[in-house]
Amino acid sequence: MTWDLLLTGGDLLDPGAGRSGRHDIAVRDGRIAAVAPELPRAGAAEVVDVTGLLVTPGLVDLHTHVHAGGTYWGIDPDPVAWHSGVTTWVDAGSAGAYTFPAFAARTAGYAVRVPALLNISAVGLVAPVGESRELANCDVELAVETVRAHRDTIVGIKVRMDRHNVGANGLAPLRRATEVASDCGLPVMVHIGAAPPSIAQLLPLLRPGDIITHCASGIAAGAAGYDPAAREAYQAGVLFDIGHGSGGFAFDVLEAQLAAGMPPHTISTDLHSRSLHGPVFDLPTTMAKLTAVGLSLEQVVAGATVAPARALGLPDGLGTLAPDAPADIAVFTVESGRFELADVHGQCRTAPLRLVNELTYRAGRLLPPQLPQPVPPWVPLTDTQRHALAGRDRAVRRLLTTPLVGPDGLAEQFPRNGA
Ligand SMILES: [Zn+2]
Repeated sequence: MTWDLLLTGGDLLDPGAGRSGRHDIAVRDGRIAAVAPELPRAGAAEVVDVTGLLVTPGLVDLHTHVHAGGTYWGIDPDPVAWHSGVTTWVDAGSAGAYTFPAFAARTAGYAVRVPALLNISAVGLVAPVGESRELANCDVELAVETVRAHRDTIVGIKVRMDRHNVGANGLAPLRRATEVASDCGLPVMVHIGAAPPSIAQLLPLLRPGDIITHCASGIAAGAAGYDPAAREAYQAGVLFDIGHGSGGFAFDVLEAQLAAGMPPHTISTDLHSRSLHGPVFDLPTTMAKLTAVGLSLEQVVAGATVAPARALGLPDGLGTLAPDAPADIAVFTVESGRFELADVHGQCRTAPLRLVNELTYRAGRLLPPQLPQPVPPWVPLTDTQRHALAGRDRAVRRLLTTPLVGPDGLAEQFPRNGA
């Protein structure tokens, strides 16, 4: 066999490799073997016709929380990945030095890739808030040692900078995170939230290539619609990441930043136990929200593939479908229409499109369907969300209790004469 898998006729959009338009894509041994407008069918073990569908690199979500069962915020990624096209789930600081071994053991079993940002606080996100209130938890030497022991999975340092998480410690947790990151040659991702410390205090500590997540949070609103400190950081080369979450994304702040020439560099969900059932749902929905305020399909695909891969220096051509890159591939139907979507404050905008995932491959293998996980008891849900979850459970039950085929679809597997 020449190829294990051949996707034919798809509408490719691969900003990282600079390719778009109708292309066939061939896969061998889990990697991209060839990409061309027309490839020979003969010799391919499996041919999948994706004519008329959008084909992108497997999506890279720069901000997620996946340590289900080990943290307050964690979810299982696999039940979401197979129907959302996200093959790389960067975990944003769920684990710190004390909990990283358990995190690594758990996430190694997932079908998706999970590079991680190490929390500067050794306790990580076991509880909803407060991890850096005890400064002894932010142990620089211990964090550096943990990075060195897990160099293959740790791609940056995470710190949550707001009054609930740092208490009286001010800028110290961020200073320590930057120290670890400098020592290890990694970027820092900073979560911004309610002051103190203020954005104006903390952003000057960031270095070019560091990342501010929740960049369009309501917290980042200022007199001009956005905080002036944000502009200085942007111009200094700090990367802006959406990190939608349950509290970190406001349409009006993003619109003000766009009007000021500050589009986000990366588009991520901050998908966790409290954002999964809304307002985030998944990465394609977050990407659609950005098209609602004027970003193009190409911009949102770049922001969820090659841009996050480059921001973290992910190895191996991840985030592109260049020859030899891992064969992580997402296939979508692009529905056009008018789709009303909400930010975390209930502000709505209308997206011109919706991305419906049809196929998701990781290393050339199709991710199989998985049922949604139960909601942990500490997650608050509205009556409408509870009702919708119950309705989805009934729909899944009805689907699975309907016999798969009728008598016509069956064969006599064991003839009665034993012939
Ligand atoms: Zn987060």
